[in-house]
Amino acid sequence: MDAFFAQFTGNLKEIFAYITLRCNMKCLHCYLGEAKQEDMPLKEYTNIVQQLVKMGASKLTLLGGEPTLHPLFFKFITVAKKQGVNCVRVDTNGSFNAKILEKPVFKLADELSFSLEGANANTHQAVRPFSNYELLIKNIQKAIRLDYQTRVTMTVNSLNLNQIIPLVSQLSDLGVKSLNLHLISENGLAKQNQQLLVSAKCWIHTRQKLEKELLKFSNIEVKVPFRFIKGQINEQKKTITCEAVKNSRVLIMPNLKIYSCPLLLDVGRNFAYFKNGKFFYSTDYQNNIFSPKNVKGSACPILTAEHKQKYFQEDTYPVCVSYKYSNKNLCNI
Ligand code: SF4
Repeated sequence: MDAFFAQFTGNLKEIFAYITLRCNMKCLHCYLGEAKQEDMPLKEYTNIVQQLVKMGASKLTLLGGEPTLHPLFFKFITVAKKQGVNCVRVDTNGSFNAKILEKPVFKLADELSFSLEGANANTHQAVRPFSNYELLIKNIQKAIRLDYQTRVTMTVNSLNLNQIIPLVSQLSDLGVKSLNLHLISENGLAKQNQQLLVSAKCWIHTRQKLEKELLKFSNIEVKVPFRFIKGQINEQKKTITCEAVKNSRVLIMPNLKIYSCPLLLDVGRNFAYFKNGKFFYSTDYQNNIFSPKNVKGSACPILTAEHKQKYFQEDTYPVCVSYKYSNKNLCNI
């Protein structure tokens, strides 16, 4: 059996397809860095999805850049559904013409996830200066009216920390059923906008407050990243571990390089690539930090390696960005 096939079969759940690096915005916190005119070829995408579904993938997220800017965007939805993907999600900045929500082909998408950074235009546009807040809200409302499963994603930064509860309240009134929080990471354009970063101490304090405040909301699920845990490695929550070592997901860039973690995208540290219809490992793969022998305990191997001093001085260590709790129940997404 092919080694790549063996590694992922039975473990793989989700594909993240970055189908284009085109973007009509230049958000201050973008973890990918500068936008580029680079699109994923549809033929290779079709082949990749076909093989990954055979390995067990049942969920696929189309993202970018802004995925709706790919000239063949709708075909990426139809191909995934034809290949047997159960759940196709589109992550969008919501800047598209509202009319496209009426297209039957768009309705084949199982979920739409809109990026929104606060409960008012000023906070949202402080990090997304090229976003049209009114259009974005109208598109969210229209998606709900048209019965799309509609979610919102917020990247928490130093300017919108106090907007989490107002946003939850606003979304709950709008009828949005799910809010997924990320905490800004020091990647991509955020490296040039350090004023937006949130310290471990500040996030732990905010997160603890949120745990209580979110209990008031029963009609919207809010997923909150832990990101930092106080205490000693290995002594806490043994079930927390690096998502990359679980082989449960792959991230594919337009140039067909394959990644295991979003923290590696801006520095181009892919572990594999797709060429001539096959998956190949990168030459240094065997030495990469994700081999199980290197990932011990619950700490994120990238963040502990690169920021060890910074976090350990605060008696704190970073855990996987994907490890989250929700106001409904503790979850890993
Ligand atoms: S964030 Fe850290 S722990 Fe999570 S997948 Fe990436 S490297 Fe692993």
